[in-house]
Amino acid sequence: MQYISTRNKKITASSPQAIVKGLADDGGLFVPLKFPSMSRADFDTLLELDYAGRAEFIMAKFLPELKSDLAEFTKNAYSKFDDDDASPLIKVDDGLYFLELWHGPTYAFKDVALTILPLLLAKSKELVGDSYKTLILVATSGDTGKAALEGFKDANGINVLVLYPTDGVSNLQKLQMQTTTGGNVKVLGLHGNFDDAQSAVKDIFGDSKLTEELKRNNINLSSANSINIGRLIPQVAYYFSAYADMIDSGNIKFGDKVNFCVPTGNFGNILAGYYALQMGLPIGKLVCASNKNNVLTDFFNKGTYSLKREFYKTSSPSMDILISSNLERLVFEISGRDDLLTAKRLKGLSSGGDYCLTKDEQQKLSNLFWAGFASEEEAFGALGQAFDEYGYIMDTHTAVAYSVYNDYVKATKDKTPCVIVSTASPYKFVKDVLFAIGEQPTGNDKKDIFLLEDLTALPIPETLSQLFKMPILHKDILDKEDIKDAVLKYSKEIGAKK
Ligand SMILES: *Cc1c(COP(=O)(O)O)cnc(C)c1O
Repeated sequence: MQYISTRNKKITASSPQAIVKGLADDGGLFVPLKFPSMSRADFDTLLELDYAGRAEFIMAKFLPELKSDLAEFTKNAYSKFDDDDASPLIKVDDGLYFLELWHGPTYAFKDVALTILPLLLAKSKELVGDSYKTLILVATSGDTGKAALEGFKDANGINVLVLYPTDGVSNLQKLQMQTTTGGNVKVLGLHGNFDDAQSAVKDIFGDSKLTEELKRNNINLSSANSINIGRLIPQVAYYFSAYADMIDSGNIKFGDKVNFCVPTGNFGNILAGYYALQMGLPIGKLVCASNKNNVLTDFFNKGTYSLKREFYKTSSPSMDILISSNLERLVFEISGRDDLLTAKRLKGLSSGGDYCLTKDEQQKLSNLFWAGFASEEEAFGALGQAFDEYGYIMDTHTAVAYSVYNDYVKATKDKTPCVIVSTASPYKFVKDVLFAIGEQPTGNDKKDIFLLEDLTALPIPETLSQLFKMPILHKDILDKEDIKDAVLKYSKEIGAKK
């Protein structure tokens, strides 16, 4: 299948090429030339399948070149989840559901894609005849880093370098990354925020002198961030799976509309929902939930994307982002796939700090999306209320979505069933979760996770309780200016090992 760059439609790639490259050469993002579609018969097929089967079915529509391997890949990936169903749908009230995407190896939804991306990448390299070593550069707001480290650990011919903001992730997220074993991984803390890490990674991709030098060391760069289409496509599947589960349980009939409310940072997760909609999933509204970093709320409500604002650190750190990379894919679609205009807007963003939509585009977007944000107090309040009312415990990111969902219902009186996309285990953000349900955290994460288990009866994931016993293997912290040198140095080490 053909993929094209959002900034120049003449730049094309097959699906394996797009996965290997990660980012198009002009800095644009790969998007499908044409969205695949789901027929009624396709939906009927989905109903009969388990999660791995559903993922295989949806992914095959985007990645036909890899079709014959997808059954094995999806089985392999989703057998690593601790629940029989990799994306269980929990009904807590009439018309209110939580889609729990955090039952994978690192307890955040990033696992849905990062358990399978290594398999897709290795096969894609084979298909395009790429014999270089691959160095995956990952900028993380907390969860992608660990999920990539786990997913690619000991993968053949692939190394991973993760950059995380040293003061911008939860203690458990940091511990997860710093204790990672495996001979092919490196983890670096960064003095700065997620946007600094992400910009540094993008700069490196765009630095032809550096990439040439890496090539001489037999190294090709790639990305495991959601700018890689291989990250995005596995995420489309759970929107369909949730819908199929609702039909299965008799809660809806085929064709009924469902809303999805998604806690959003880099706009990857919710964009996957938009892709599902483009393929024919009957979605009413996609509710875009932000924390205090509400750049996306303003974008949807005012039609301007502006970076001229303060950056806040919140208790939902994986959403502490001002530059939502995947929004470029939506802006490309909503402009009627105008690549020149998209390129101009994104250039304006990096030079002038903002860009605007037309009134017509804004109208089109508001038919599909509704956007809101939650302050810290509102998110904590929503988390506590759901625990009191339903006995349901959620993490701080999901709480942002739940709070925005409540605002949405209040503002619109819309009674359409809604699925809140739940993105992390509450244990990863244990201190704030305890606080939100009216408990006093002890200040010691190890004690706190047992306290939360006592209060909620939600079992502690084994690998999280083990973390406290593991040695810290990755301690380096560096400044922005030193990132390129660190990447070069690491590439020399791994190049020499080949
Ligand atoms: C990454 C992440 C998000 C945001 O997802 P995007 O795809 O970046 O919008 C939300 N919640 C958690 C827990 C995450 O790890």
